[in-house]
Amino acid sequence: MSIQENYEKIMKRIIQACQRSGRQADDIQMIAITKYVSIETAQKAVDTGIKNLGENRLEGFQKKYHAIGNQVKWHFIGTLQSRKVKNIIEEVDYIHSLDRLSLAKEINKRSKRKIPCFVQVNTSGEESKHGLDPDELQSFIDQLSQYENVEVVGLMTMAPLIEDQDTIRSCFKKLRHLRDEVRDRQLEYAPCTYLSMGMSHDFEIAIEEGATHIRIGSSLVGNKSK
Ligand SMILES: *Cc1c(COP(=O)(O)O)cnc(C)c1O
Repeated sequence: MSIQENYEKIMKRIIQACQRSGRQADDIQMIAITKYVSIETAQKAVDTGIKNLGENRLEGFQKKYHAIGNQVKWHFIGTLQSRKVKNIIEEVDYIHSLDRLSLAKEINKRSKRKIPCFVQVNTSGEESKHGLDPDELQSFIDQLSQYENVEVVGLMTMAPLIEDQDTIRSCFKKLRHLRDEVRDRQLEYAPCTYLSMGMSHDFEIAIEEGATHIRIGSSLVGNKSK
């Protein structure tokens, strides 16, 4: 299956999920996650019309950015060590994995502009998942007010990799409710309008629950270099 065919299939499923939930496909940004694939494959995704690329590691981010540059917007979706912030800060358009104050502090220090960030929340309660505990979110948001280069544009989560659709859906619902709470505070530094949720196996549920940014890797570009 070519990337073009994958892309068309996914677009169809996005449109259907939007129809089921009374949403517009234009309101959903698809981010192609290229962490498993080569530069050439990532470029092919761009050639099919992908406007957003996401990487979860510094090395992959730098290599792909170097080759592809400003043809797309760049999303950093992985755990980000504070000492590596300086290596992506000028190139990155969105950081999806803001999960601690030390990272916000470093972003603030290293950047000369406001960086749109998603605060990552652990909605599943799984130990292995990164992100803030939902109970910690509001006070975390309060504390971000001191970092003028950090702009909270939304929240991000990962649902567990399981079959049970109800559990997956409840994670996405939880994130939407948390997003509404932050958004309703109308903080200038935290407009928090976006929801980054949904991957290859669960993006339709995520769209039904309000996702604005879906992160699609394997079902779009594959999961090995080819
Ligand atoms: C790898 C990854 C994705 C994409 O996963 P697929 O299941 O391949 O679509 C999305 N989000 C994050 C944070 C990831 O690490």
